[in-house]
Amino acid sequence: MILDNIIEEIQNAEDIVLLTHETPDGDAIGSSLALYGALKQIGKKVDVIIPECPSLFNFLPWHDQIKDVGKEEKYSLAIALDCSDIKRLNGFANYFEGAKTKIVIDHHGSNTMFGDYNFVNPASSACCQILVTLLEYLDVSINKEIGTCIATGIITDTGGFKYSTVKSETFEFVAELLNNGINISDIYRKVLQISSKKQFELRKIAINRMEFLESGKIAFTYITSQEQENLECGTGDHEGIVEIGRDVENVEVSIFLREQNDGSYKVSFRSNEYVNVSDICLMFGGGGHQNAAGCTVNLPLEQAKEKLIAQTKLYLK
Ligand code: AMP
Ligand code: MN
Ligand code: MN
Repeated sequence: MILDNIIEEIQNAEDIVLLTHETPDGDAIGSSLALYGALKQIGKKVDVIIPECPSLFNFLPWHDQIKDVGKEEKYSLAIALDCSDIKRLNGFANYFEGAKTKIVIDHHGSNTMFGDYNFVNPASSACCQILVTLLEYLDVSINKEIGTCIATGIITDTGGFKYSTVKSETFEFVAELLNNGINISDIYRKVLQISSKKQFELRKIAINRMEFLESGKIAFTYITSQEQENLECGTGDHEGIVEIGRDVENVEVSIFLREQNDGSYKVSFRSNEYVNVSDICLMFGGGGHQNAAGCTVNLPLEQAKEKLIAQTKLYLK
């Protein structure tokens, strides 16, 4: 069984590097830090590499252990978490490719299975939820610190337990965390409710120019790199914008473009009922889940908008 192979590889590894996807979210960071804590608990030598971790996650245990560069020699084991595609490891794919053994732990349906061992479960609400099973196998006790990291991933990836990816299992895991003294409501408030002033100002810009197209079934908005610069925005400050459009009555698909310094656009897609936005994003070299997906488009704004909307229209009823 694949879990047995993974446990064996972890037990035999001399040193381990943990990697996750670019523009990391709560699940990417939560799963990386939870596994970091767990591997430390069983006496492993571990590096956890997360580029540009948003400051809102500074409350997480082991946050001060995060590195933005690894060692030069090869690691014996690399584990990629919450990452569907080796391209999304961005500048860190070399640590993955260079490692003697490569493991992928993920929950994206679009996962390309780029490891030697791929523990991928698209039915799982978060990568952190998959870790619960793995940690049981590893005989690691889910203490308060590890539990806090796991709860963070589950809360953020389920939008606060409201997506259809939530199963009774999700609540069972979280009930267990609550029983172990993890403060779910405090984590919820920190990761989903509080917004910084910058975030609020950025949302105002995006809301003001939000358009409703195709009889209101598509919501579209964007922010430029100049606007992000003016507000001195950091990574993660755009979080939540795409959901604003999604939550307007009659909208099926919300599209949000965020200009990068090189002029390309990071695109976020969200849908409500029947459109599989992961399929749309795959057409642009991206991916994700049925109701939340993303891609990068290297075109001027108007052309990008036209192409994205033309493709989306094909999926509308
Ligand atoms: P985001 O809109 O950035 O919050 O991403 C929504 C979901 O789509 C997340 O699960 C991401 O991991 C996934 N995703 C975003 N961009 C890409 C991409 N370029 N390739 C594959 N998956 C992506
Ligand atoms: Mn993620
Ligand atoms: Mn995830």
